[in-house]
Amino acid sequence: MTKWVYDFGDGKAEGSAEMRDLLGGKGAGLAEMSNLGLPVPPGFTITTEVCTAFYAEDRSLPDDLAGQVGVAITAIEASVGATFGDPENPLLVSVRSGARASMPGMLDTILNLGLNPETVAGLAARSNDERFAFDSYRRFIQMYSNVVLGVSHDIFEELLENHKADNGQTLDTELTADDWIDLVEAYKGAVYDATGETFPDDVQDQLWGAINAVFGSWMNKRALTYRRLHDIPTGWGTAVNVQAMVFGNMGDDCATGVAFTRDPSSGEKAVYGEFLINAQGEDVVAGIRTPQHLTLAAKQAGQSPFDAMEEVMPEVYGQLIDVIASLESHYRDMQDIEFTVQSDKLWMLQTRSGKRTAQAGIRIAVEMVAEGIIDEREAILRVDPASLDQLLHPMLDSRAPQTIITRGLPASPGAASGRVVFTADAADDAASQGEAVILVRIETSPEDIHGMHAARGILTSRGGMTSHAAVVARGMGRPCVSGAGELNIDLKAERFSASGIEIKAGDMITIDGSSGAVMQGEAAMIQPELSDDFQTLMAWADKARRMAVRANADSPKDAQTALDFGAEGIGLCRTEHMFFEAKRITAMREMILADDEAARRVALDKLLPMQRDDFIGMFRIMAGLPVTIRLLDPPLHEFLPHSEEDLAEVARASGVAFEALRQRAAQIHEVNPMLGHRGCRLGISYPEIYRMQARAIFEASATVSAELGEAVVPEIMIPLIVSVRELEIIKKSIIEVAGEVEGETGAKLSFLVGTMIELPRAALRAGDIARAAEFFSFGTNDLTQTTYGISRDDSATFLEDYQRLGIFERDPFVSLDREGVGELVSIAVERGRAARADLKLGICGEHGGDPDSIEFCESVGLDYVSCSPFRVPIARLAAAQATLGKG
Ligand code: PEP
Ligand code: MG
Repeated sequence: MTKWVYDFGDGKAEGSAEMRDLLGGKGAGLAEMSNLGLPVPPGFTITTEVCTAFYAEDRSLPDDLAGQVGVAITAIEASVGATFGDPENPLLVSVRSGARASMPGMLDTILNLGLNPETVAGLAARSNDERFAFDSYRRFIQMYSNVVLGVSHDIFEELLENHKADNGQTLDTELTADDWIDLVEAYKGAVYDATGETFPDDVQDQLWGAINAVFGSWMNKRALTYRRLHDIPTGWGTAVNVQAMVFGNMGDDCATGVAFTRDPSSGEKAVYGEFLINAQGEDVVAGIRTPQHLTLAAKQAGQSPFDAMEEVMPEVYGQLIDVIASLESHYRDMQDIEFTVQSDKLWMLQTRSGKRTAQAGIRIAVEMVAEGIIDEREAILRVDPASLDQLLHPMLDSRAPQTIITRGLPASPGAASGRVVFTADAADDAASQGEAVILVRIETSPEDIHGMHAARGILTSRGGMTSHAAVVARGMGRPCVSGAGELNIDLKAERFSASGIEIKAGDMITIDGSSGAVMQGEAAMIQPELSDDFQTLMAWADKARRMAVRANADSPKDAQTALDFGAEGIGLCRTEHMFFEAKRITAMREMILADDEAARRVALDKLLPMQRDDFIGMFRIMAGLPVTIRLLDPPLHEFLPHSEEDLAEVARASGVAFEALRQRAAQIHEVNPMLGHRGCRLGISYPEIYRMQARAIFEASATVSAELGEAVVPEIMIPLIVSVRELEIIKKSIIEVAGEVEGETGAKLSFLVGTMIELPRAALRAGDIARAAEFFSFGTNDLTQTTYGISRDDSATFLEDYQRLGIFERDPFVSLDREGVGELVSIAVERGRAARADLKLGICGEHGGDPDSIEFCESVGLDYVSCSPFRVPIARLAAAQATLGKG
């Protein structure tokens, strides 16, 4: 027989803190507190395995559950000396959800279960408080009807408001027992009208209705959304906790409240919490009455007119403080606690690790090391690397109201507000006037780059997590929401609409690149700050990690940002990005559109000095740290002129007739540009392109080596190869150029030549390729695109369906697919190292900044990860956690 039910209470429990997977967070906390001898109302937990069985069996519960629940109810009855359904002395219970990972407010709860016309009379008689009994009853009807019977809250709120208006009352506390008695009848009538059924009086029916509904709430819409946003697997399920009620609403010696052992927003070591006298749990969160502070200090700091618990219930407050302290030292972490006081007696209803802001998380971890509660290792493991994003970018102030128009992909973190512009030039103009703007495009392309830079944030209706907009915005540290497919953008009319709201050029919007939300108007924000505690934690992480952390940076400015965030080199300099600037893109286009070598050389001669200056800038800033420069890899659609005006500009600069250029552009237009004439294929067709770049690199490294007095050793990286032959041909010509530059300058050049592994064939042929490559860098953006056969540019639309249906747990462009793409990486690592033992291995796809993917990189033994500058701190912490073996 499977054990489905675990008892707790009376100083003992069948479960414990370690059984969180089975009992859920709440159940495990209640069991642990019982074992610690803390005052916990007795009850039992129905396991998460029942939830799994419930969904496996088409929403029906296991046959032998009823028997086990019956036995457990009898145990509660014995413990509290009351009987479930008994008219004289009724036991009332709460039924609450409790998942493995905490999902605040997402699942359902029912209080005061077990009331009916007979038991409510018993409760009134025993408590000698008819008002309390009927207030409890109406609360029960309202919650139960909402959760189990699907009747809207509003119906009950309206009845209550009407009743108060008719009787000249404003506050709930003014209602008498007779008022609640009338309302209970009115509520029941409303339930009958809404459902066609009478409200259940049988307490067993009530109990099983509630249990079924709580399990059912695991699949409600808000729970599904929450799990998707927080990567919580659907298979985990929730537990159900049934517990004897204690009452915080039985008079002025009763109360209910919540407490954190430290301040969850600042991390300060001070008890933080709120409570309400003569109230039940939901009153604290419902916001109908203003909760009071627990401590006198908080009351004074908040200048609250209401008494603190410390003043009005000093004795119970003292007990609560002791319990809080013992729970924090037992769990060795900040706890989030719920309690109720019934007739001056303290009862504990919950303890769990408290949610906290990134800032608080770091402060608590660092201070707990100083207090000797945890060691540095544990402090590193405690902080969620992804949460550091909150510290590096302005964030939305979640307490402020927001009007969400639509959602897209959270492509580049941080929030930004600004007036809407629809062209890069408009963004540039407005920004030069000091105005904050959000650039809205269907998708971005290289000629938008100046506008992206000028804008505070970028919003596109098309494009995935590795699309142009996403990659470039992340590199610049600009917030970006991409692929907001519901946006209806009319570029000509300069307006867009979504959710029936129309936004015109010049209107204010806010985007949140951390959640993907797009909001009307200007939303309140919190500015980032890097504390001393942050620096301390990062220093511990740097000591602990094995892998190096480099940055993807394409300009001296980005290189400087990367260095400031602690990067130890450049892992990817995308040279085509160096031509995104308006002034340069024309020369780049001339080169692409040239129809013979001579014309190409003319354009290349214009590009050479620009490239050389960029590389000099990069080498100077990186001052001897490794710099990986990737030779040109322009997917053609990103660079072909998009408008007649652009084409005319190229015609002017090159002296080639407009019509001839138009024909040439049409000729090289590709249907699948991501699979087209890009990467080393260009270098194979037009060797002079890569020769120009090699020359620019060598001339720059010779100059900066002389300045520094030490050799700059560039790592020259060839993109998109599938065969060692491509690499051999290109490497040979790079070495020739090195010889030329050495001859001209007299400098002795040192450099490495390596390759990206970003196509499945390259991964499989890594053994041959490593014979010619001194390093590999995994380009997991293209490797994901080509392994799945899914476009990185426009898969956002259907990837959402795939995630919703659980076909993909996460977007494979965000988190590396260990099973498929990961296997190719493992194969390449193994075959590459077998051929060349000292092969240097790194990753430079967007996954290099994703904590879960970084853990994978550690597991296959890469030497470094490389990510956009603003993600460098995240990568440093994630790499440390991976080394310390966090699962
Ligand atoms: C990649 O493909 O992973 C990569 C880093 O190159 P890009 O994103 O420039 O194609
Ligand atoms: Mg690539």
